[in-house]
Order: sequence, then C-alpha cells, then structure tokens
Amino acid sequence: MKEIPRDSAPPYSRLARAMTGEAEAAAAARVLCHETYLGMGQEVRRFEHDLAQFLQVEPWQVLSTHSGTGALHVAVSAVCPPGTEVLVPSLTYAASAQAITAAQCLPVFCDVHAHSATLDITDAATRISARTRAIMPMHYAGNPWQRQEIYAFAAKYHLRVIEDAAHAFGSLFQGSPLGAQGDMVCFSFDGIKNITCGEGGCIITFDKDVAKICREMRELGFQQDAQVPHERDVVRQGWRYHMSNVFAAVGRVQLQRLLTEFAPKRQKLVAHYMENLKNLQGNVAFLHTSNDAHIVPHMFVVRILGQRRDALRAALTQAHVATGIHYRPCHWQSFYKSSLTLPVTEKLYTELLTLPLHPALETEHVDIICSHIADFF
Ligand SMILES: *Cc1c(COP(=O)(O)O)cnc(C)c1O
Repeated sequence: MKEIPRDSAPPYSRLARAMTGEAEAAAAARVLCHETYLGMGQEVRRFEHDLAQFLQVEPWQVLSTHSGTGALHVAVSAVCPPGTEVLVPSLTYAASAQAITAAQCLPVFCDVHAHSATLDITDAATRISARTRAIMPMHYAGNPWQRQEIYAFAAKYHLRVIEDAAHAFGSLFQGSPLGAQGDMVCFSFDGIKNITCGEGGCIITFDKDVAKICREMRELGFQQDAQVPHERDVVRQGWRYHMSNVFAAVGRVQLQRLLTEFAPKRQKLVAHYMENLKNLQGNVAFLHTSNDAHIVPHMFVVRILGQRRDALRAALTQAHVATGIHYRPCHWQSFYKSSLTLPVTEKLYTELLTLPLHPALETEHVDIICSHIADFF
C-alpha cells in the first residue's frame, strides 16, 4: 500500500506517526462524495459494529467519540457525580486528569510501580476516601499490568473501573482483546495511536444503564429513543462528542490494517530493540509487562539508570534520533499543583526515555538507534 510521503528525514527522527495512505484517503473520499450526511451516521455505525466484532462485544457496548479524552470525560461523568474522587496515576498524559476535572471530579494522584510505570494499588489504597468513586488505571505503553488485581481492588472498595486504554488498542488480555470484558474501557484513535481516525476514541461499557447515559452525554444530553427527532428531550448535561462519518471511514480501514500490518510491525520492532539493548543491563532497564497480555506496543520506553538519561538524550538528539519523556507527572502541572510527593513517579521521571516506534520504522533503523545508545555507554 502506498503511503503519502511526509518528509525525507530518516524515520527515526520521528518518535511516532500515523500510517495512512491511499486506502484511508479513498474511504474518506467515498464518504465525502457519496454520503449525504457527514456527522454521526451510517459510517459511524459501521465503525462501531467493526469495533464490536474486533473486541468481541455487542454493538450496544461500543460508543465512538471524537477523541479519547472525550471518551474518558463521558465515562467519568456517567459514573462519578460532581465532587467525587477518581484514583489515577500521576504518570499519565494530561488527558486522563483533564477528563476527571472536566467531569467536575477530583483526580487523586497515585504513585506507580518502578518496574512497570503503571498504577500501584498499594499506594492507591492509602488514598481512598468516602468520596472515592472510581479508579482509572492507564495501560502505559499498552501494558495492562495487574489488570486483574486492579479489578479485585475496585470490587473490594466498590469502585468503578475506567480504563485509560489509549495506548493499548489491539492488545490481548488472557487471550481476548483488551476491552472484551471489564467495566469501562476507553480507547483513543488520535493521530499517533495504534490505529487512527485522524482524531477519535471510543468507550466500551458492560452496563446497559451506563451505555444509555453515555449515549445521551455524547450528544448534548438528548434522549436517544424519541420517535420524533425534534421532540427529543434534553435530559442531562451533555456534549457534542460524537464521531464523524469521515473519521469513521478512516478508522474502518485502519482497523483492517492493525493485525496484518501495524501490530506485527510494532511487536517486531520492540523485540528487536530488546535484543539489541539487552547487553546494556545496568545502564538500560526494560519495563516489565504483564504475563497475561499479548501487547501491541504504542511506545517503546526504557529506564536509563545512573542519572545518565539527559546526557544520552542529548547524544541521541545530536544523531537525529527523536526521543521523548512520557510523562511529566500530573501532580507537578500548575493546574493540579499540590504539595503531594510521589517518590517512585518522581524518580522514574528522571529515568524514562521513549525511543522511536511506529510502523514506518525498520529493524535497520532500530540497529542504528541502538548502536548510538551502545556508543554512548
Ligand atoms: C492519547 C491519550 C489520551 C487521549 O486521547 P485523545 O484521542 O488524544 O484525546 C488519553 N490518555 C492517554 C494516556 C493517551 O496517550
């Protein structure tokens, strides 16, 4: 399949990128030229059916949205009344925390495990209050670490689980697609995720009442079962968060390419990175990943030990290798500023280094990146 060339720089000068080409363009063009309606219509319904089939759930369980952030916002709003608290790792994209505050709830930032960079439920347990309603684990780099333990924890404390699975679309958990079971699972289809619609997201829910509320919230609070469209009653606060037919058309093509192209390529590249870097133990540590999961990695993140991360990063920049740091902790962001100290998160923040990972990268590029890293050490 022909990709539309973006630039002539080496692919490792990009940390991440979308893989879209003529097939996506044709699908979008088909909607633009032949559908009479560009908003949430037939193509969105088809995409939701495709997602349901892929994730092994029923179509009513899938709600596409205009973004992953919108999916999280609606999910929190549906199950957490204003003023209640949501446990969330501080080491996550601002979207997780912003979705919570957008729902007028309070993010309660928790520490993470040093070996996986994911939510530490032992720490979370110390932060539970009478107002806690939900826990929002984030599957860092696609890794649903301790997912079962998180669900057991939630059951013990009567909490809803809202999975921020933005990194994890396509990953398997215990042999089934992540999202095939659980409470609420939110995915993102933004421009750099495992599949993209351009922008987009979805909520998977297992609760019929929650699905109904989410459908209303997705569309300005309109009741969904009215016979006469103009008589639809507005029954709650809602937003215009639906997906467009144009974006859904792109998503449907991307979904078809995931298992044949994107997932095997991402997995192969990560395996190649690990093979190349395993001799640098002591300097470079890998994150632990769940034994229950078969991961489609969204990013490749390592820990650089011995306080040499920033120096290595500068050397890689010199060599035109893109790097990233995911993420500056939320509890350090001005908007959320608190006196909170989260020792593991704060230490990890000095060690984490994200290396380029996207399907336009080849194993030879990984060799080049890794030889720069080896040279540095
Ligand atoms: C991408 C992302 C989101 C938000 O998704 P958008 O579609 O970009 O709004 C939420 N959480 C995490 C961890 C993400 O990486």
